[in-house]
Order: sequence, then structure tokens, then C-alpha cells
Amino acid sequence: MTFTVAVVGRPNVGKSTLFNRLAGKRLALVDDTPGVTRDRREADGKLFDLTFRLVDTAGLEEADHASLASRMREQSQRAVEEADVVLFMLDARAGITPSDELFADELRKSDRPVIVLTNKCEGSAGEAGFYEAYELGLGEPVAFSGEHGHGIDELYDRLHAIHEAWREAHDAEDVEADSEEAGQDVVQLAVVGRPNVGKSTLINRLLGEDRLLTGPEAGLTRDAIRVDWHHKGQPMRLVDTAGQRRRARVQDKLEQLAVQDALHAINFAHVVALVADATEGLDRQDLHIAQSVIEEGRALVVVVNKIDAVADADAALRAVRDRLKTSLPQVRGVPVVSLSGLTGRNVETLLDAVLRAYKIWTTKVATPDLNQWLSEVTASHPPPRGRYGKRIRFKYITQPKARPPTFTLFCSQPTEVPGSYTRYLENELRHDFDLPGTPIRFIYKRPK
Ligand code: GDP
Ligand code: GDP
Repeated sequence: MTFTVAVVGRPNVGKSTLFNRLAGKRLALVDDTPGVTRDRREADGKLFDLTFRLVDTAGLEEADHASLASRMREQSQRAVEEADVVLFMLDARAGITPSDELFADELRKSDRPVIVLTNKCEGSAGEAGFYEAYELGLGEPVAFSGEHGHGIDELYDRLHAIHEAWREAHDAEDVEADSEEAGQDVVQLAVVGRPNVGKSTLINRLLGEDRLLTGPEAGLTRDAIRVDWHHKGQPMRLVDTAGQRRRARVQDKLEQLAVQDALHAINFAHVVALVADATEGLDRQDLHIAQSVIEEGRALVVVVNKIDAVADADAALRAVRDRLKTSLPQVRGVPVVSLSGLTGRNVETLLDAVLRAYKIWTTKVATPDLNQWLSEVTASHPPPRGRYGKRIRFKYITQPKARPPTFTLFCSQPTEVPGSYTRYLENELRHDFDLPGTPIRFIYKRPK
């Protein structure tokens, strides 16, 4: 779902000027419904940090098959149908015309939020028109100038408030969809790592040993081998094991390909098992892959394989843990499993770790608990001062989505929260709600 902003108004009030100001680069001319010959303009709109779909109806003037009045009615009805907010533009210098009133009638009948922009308000020539616009009964108008950028801040504030309400309504829908999905969700697992760390051996062992295996249907597609099975009643799917088919290629290329394959597989996975060789530990490439998994918001499990080949298994495990702690400090508690794909030792613990990581990754925390938590952590370690020495104030927190856990924190100076404070909040949240090893996302926003 995209937040949709429609611009309506009679010809020449300045709609196109505003449209171009808000439109991003990808300006699209979209064919209208068959039978209606007009084109609708559509673009990705942006105003400061707000992004939206922007629509207006161009070419109104050229249409000659109906009266202006009926065409306008049609235009506003259509805009209203698809819009989450309507920007109704007037020319303040011309004052309110009968055509404007026609639009206003239609908009009043709709239940969509409307923002009245009295345009061309730079200077004093628009003053009378601005006050007249109150009489349309569509709320307080914004004194605006699309050409000079006047009133943009106020437009932002109004849009922002409407957008927040819209988002909350839709988040509620998303959460429902999420939990429905979770019931029958297939855990998508990718096994990645450098060549020769033992991925194929491990996968074969895993699939061969899982007692609940429902006979792997290895479907060979052009780009990946796909395997479906169950583990403890949970459907699982192994995604994109493409790396294994590239054996024949030369070794140095293989190294690069392994990273590329891993990055590709991450896209399709919920959980990524990064396999490392216990005799070698984690190298730069492994950490690069681990970093990408977290950045892409996937759950990570690190496998220390070939544990049979090292004298001190505990030391090997500790070395990997230490390396993760220093090189991936933003995600504490990444699960590390040591095993031997060759001998089968400890292999059964991997799928349990994967399921656990998946569960954490899909966690939803109740809003009251979050807000209780927020007031406690901000009291015990108050946020720093932001701009002009004013202390940043946190108002409330919600979790709009899981997979990965994503939190919106409403605060007074969203852009001023320093990284150190974010890390503090993240670590506390991770600890207090038991979210080890999973990527956590924070979004700072101004309250409504
Ligand atoms: P549209 O037909 O509603 O899309 O209107 P346009 O964007 O094509 O603008 C119509 C005319 O109004 C053009 O000559 C614009 O230059 C002018 N115009 C647009 N915005 C402003 C404004 O903020 N102030 C003034 N004075 N003129 C404007
Ligand atoms: P891949 O390239 O990551 O798929 O690695 P393979 O599964 O093909 O294994 C590469 C080599 O490591 C092979 O010679 C395997 O026999 C060996 N190997 C795989 N797993 C283990 C293990 O757990 N212990 C030991 N000692 N060797 C292993």
C-alpha cells in the first residue's frame, strides 16, 4: 500500500507547478481507464522525509466531450476514490469562482481528508482570496505559493499528520496479515559460506538425518536447487544453493562467486546459516557476508563446521564468538553452533537454532509493554540534548512490523538522536524482550 496524494482544482490554479515541485524523477504518464481518453499523471512524490504516490488529472482542458462542470465532478470523484488525501488548489488572486465551488461540493461529500491550498499567495494580492477560502467549509486553508515555495512547511505538517493516521490504520492490517501468514509460514533457510567449508556435506547430512523429512522434493530450477521438508512440524525450505553447482570453475573465481551467491541467497531467505570452517575461523569474507545478512534484515546463525578436525573444539567456538562480538557489535547474541557435517556430530542442534532464530525474528512485542519499557530506559539513562541544547524527548513507541522486529520511536528531534543513544536503546530492548542475534530496526519520528 502506498500513501496516495491527489492534486485537484480547476485549470490554471497552479496544480502542475506544485506537481512538478513534489514529483521525483520517475515521472510517469499513465493511461487512464479504457473509454476515458484523458491521461492521468502519476509520479513518486517526496516532501522532506515523506514519500507518496502523487496523482493528478492532466489534460482536463482538452477534453471536449462533456461540460466542464461534469468533467470536474468526474475528476474530483476519481481523485477522491484513489486518494488518501486530496490537495485542493485554488487561485487566491482570482478569488473563489463557481468552478471552485463545484469542486468543494464534491469534496465535502467525500470522507477523504482535504487540504485546501490557496495558491499564488506570495505578496499581498492573494489575501482576500485566502480568507474567502474559509467559506468553502473544508477547513483552514494554507496560504501557499507553489512557485515560490511558501506554505511548504505547513503543507508538510498537515500531510505528515494525515500520513501518520493512515499508517497506523494500515499497520493494524499488516499485523493481522503477518500473524495469518505465520500460521502456515515456511521457514526459508539459506546455507551460505566460502567454498569448501562443508556446505554440501552438511546439507546432505541434515536432510538425511531429519526424521520428519517428508522426502525431499529437490526441484531443480534454472538458478537454484530447492528442497522442502519439515523439522519438528515446521515446514522448511532450503533456498538457493546455487553455489554448489559451480564446482567446476576455477578456484579464485569461486571465492568471489561464493560471496555473490551468498548475497543472492540472502534475498530469498528468512534465516541464513553462515558456515565457517573451524580450522580457519571467520575471515573477512565471512564477516562481509554476516554484515550483509544483518543489513538486509535477515536472521543469522553462524555454523562452525568441521569441529572434528580441531583439537580444542571449545577454543575454536570461543574464537568465532569473540570475532563476532568485535566485528558485528550491533547484533549481540548471534547464535553460534559448532558441529561436524562429516561425522554428524551436533548436527541436530542446527535446525533447532534456525527455528529459534526464526521465532525471534518474527517476534511482536505488545505496545503497552514497549511503552512501559521506554519510560523506564529513558528515565534511567536520559536522552542527550539535541539542537539548541534542548533535550530530546521520547513520547511513545510502537512496533509496526516484525521480520525483522522494527520499532517506531516518536520523539521531539528525530534527526538528532545520536548513534550512541540508539545503541543503548537497542541493547536494552534486545535484552529486556529477549531478542538476541536478530537485526532490530529503529525509526525515529515526530509525534503527531
Ligand atoms: P494548472 O493548470 O492548475 O496545472 O496550473 P499551472 O501549474 O500550469 O499554473 C498556471 C499558471 O499559474 C502558470 O502561469 C504558473 O506559472 C502560475 N503559477 C503557478 N503557481 C503560482 C504561484 O504560486 N504564484 C503565482 N503568482 N503564479 C503561479
Ligand atoms: P562446500 O564447498 O562448502 O559445499 O564444501 P563440501 O561439502 O564440498 O566439503 C569440502 C571438503 O570438506 C570435503 O573434502 C569434505 O569432505 C570436507 N568436509 C566437509 N564437512 C566436514 C567436516 O565436518 N569435517 C571434516 N573434517 N571435513 C569436512
